[in-house]
Amino acid sequence: MVANLADRVAVMYGGSIVETAGARRLFDAPAHPYTRGLLASLPAIGDEDRGRLTAIPGQPPDMTRLPEGCAFVERCPYAFARCRWERPPLLPAGKKARAACWWTG
Ligand code: SF4
Repeated sequence: MVANLADRVAVMYGGSIVETAGARRLFDAPAHPYTRGLLASLPAIGDEDRGRLTAIPGQPPDMTRLPEGCAFVERCPYAFARCRWERPPLLPAGKKARAACWWTG
């Protein structure tokens, strides 16, 4: 529904925008690992007998004690050392798109 109503979409995690892009691009080719996990967890029509929904492992961060680096680091399958000590800015991620991930670009 969002993809059909919005021109642009911003995805937030840990109180910050982690990805912004045109709606079609974001839904077709999400760049940020959190966005990918979020979209993978959406149920689809016809999935009634699929059983449990896919979930992103782990828990959201404590908003009163956000990590020094990337807020998604404890749940991210692509995390590496830099993610723990340096928060990624919104980096170019394709045409008019940005993602806050060191793997972007
Ligand atoms: S910056 Fe690191 S921890 Fe954060 S989403 Fe990217 S790979 Fe994962």
